[in-house]
Amino acid sequence: MSISSSSSVFLLAALVLLGCQSPNPDDGATPKQDVQARADSLTQAHLLVDGHIDLPYRLNDFYENPTDTTIGGDLDYPKAKAGGLDAPFMSIYIPTELQGTPGAPKERADSLIDLVERIVDEHPDQFTIATSPDDVRRIASTDAVALPMGMENGAGIEDDLDNLQHFYDRGIRYITLTHGTHNKIGDSSYDDSDPRWNGLSPFGERVIDEMNRLGIMVDVSHVTDATAEDAIARTEAPVIASHSSCRHFTPGWERNISDDLIKRVADTGGVVMITFGSSFLRSEYRDQDDPIREKMNAHIDSMGWAEDSQEAVAYEEKVRKENPIGSVEDVADHIDHAVDLVGIDHVGLGSDFDGVFALPNGLQDASDYPNLVAELLRRGYTDKEIEKLLGANVLRVWSEVATTAQRLQGNG
Ligand SMILES: [Zn+2]
Repeated sequence: MSISSSSSVFLLAALVLLGCQSPNPDDGATPKQDVQARADSLTQAHLLVDGHIDLPYRLNDFYENPTDTTIGGDLDYPKAKAGGLDAPFMSIYIPTELQGTPGAPKERADSLIDLVERIVDEHPDQFTIATSPDDVRRIASTDAVALPMGMENGAGIEDDLDNLQHFYDRGIRYITLTHGTHNKIGDSSYDDSDPRWNGLSPFGERVIDEMNRLGIMVDVSHVTDATAEDAIARTEAPVIASHSSCRHFTPGWERNISDDLIKRVADTGGVVMITFGSSFLRSEYRDQDDPIREKMNAHIDSMGWAEDSQEAVAYEEKVRKENPIGSVEDVADHIDHAVDLVGIDHVGLGSDFDGVFALPNGLQDASDYPNLVAELLRRGYTDKEIEKLLGANVLRVWSEVATTAQRLQGNG
């Protein structure tokens, strides 16, 4: 956009007028606006890669056109553009319940990948699948949002290593080794029963080897400490935690990552991607949403709405937005803690948008990343550091994993 000479005169007059009303430096208004504006422009300028968003799972339950403002959930095209989000990793999530039925986990993974492909086929100007860091950069230079994919729960490969090649060919670039219960690969932090393998299984070791060979990132979110330690000892490439916050703030809760494991992930050259869900941020937030959900579900029942009806989805969204738990500052505390432990090069963001019920005030959907960036600016993070946190770190790790694969395949 250019400015004509007559509007230049007008602009000058406006500036003079503004000068007459120069803000009181003590009222704080101008610096605050400056920080938010800077955060907005930084978030738009830098590549923003989110490690984990459950849009496929959400749309599988209740399909809405994601290029429009959707009534349910945290991510759609307008929200991504408003929030500066360039590349949300689409979670290809396999529920634990399917693990007992041979064939079902793989079938679910394939059907969710089909769904992502359907989105990009129907809306090529808004969404494009990304299978490499270069894809992400290229797509980010257009108006489209890049959709890389990660599989949440290695049960999707069943007991056949060849399925790793199948899913690599379909675009999967990380695998979260377990989810809600122990599986054939290793043990899950969410499983209350005794460990099945005391870490990685013998099959799991071969899975890591094959993931390294293909160039699929190893994701240690959701696994037990012993499984993460084994995976880190086994891998030849950097590992990620696609959506884990710091256990330091939720003592004893194994789903969040310990200080020791944050250091070990960093030692591989990897990245811990801090997640936003309220229950991950402080122990005292853990059960705060239970009564809210109970009341919400009772209301949905009393109205006779089916769980996946438009009415129920819209109502749930309203309740979620009206009941944030925690704050942007809480998330920034986790980032500070991880950065203090291992430095700026090994920390990123993995919101778990569309995958959790309660989110903090100011970080409730994909349009809200600038609020977190504003908080980081207030805490003294530099432009360069913010660029690393938002996406440069995970893209570096992804490239290193691809380079390791080239070497292992004898091409490097
Ligand atoms: Zn998860």
